[in-house]
Amino acid sequence: MTRARMPRPEEVAAARTDLRLLRARAERPADETWRIRGNCRSVDPETFFPAATEAPDIAVAVCGGCAVRGACLAWALDTGDTHGVWGGTTPRERRAMVIAWHQREEALVPVG
Ligand code: SF4
Repeated sequence: MTRARMPRPEEVAAARTDLRLLRARAERPADETWRIRGNCRSVDPETFFPAATEAPDIAVAVCGGCAVRGACLAWALDTGDTHGVWGGTTPRERRAMVIAWHQREEALVPVG
């Protein structure tokens, strides 16, 4: 098993303005009902957890047409899940997004 490297600062900076992350922020769900509306309900779950040597293209394509991809990605970023494809993002992409997501959260917390 290989350890994932930490995202570089420029990767985190790019993640902050990634349209998928911005959509996730806008569509962050108040409940879990998005789960029953995902396109992946009719796809083999293994598709979303490709081996390290496999391209995640099929899963990313399925997510690309999913109506709840923003809510799905918001869930993955809230929980810090960096395994598998969620909301059309790969684990590598999401490692930078998770940092960007939580930095923004911290910045929005009122001080004092
Ligand atoms: S975005 Fe992808 S993983 Fe998330 S619910 Fe939709 S199809 Fe499933």
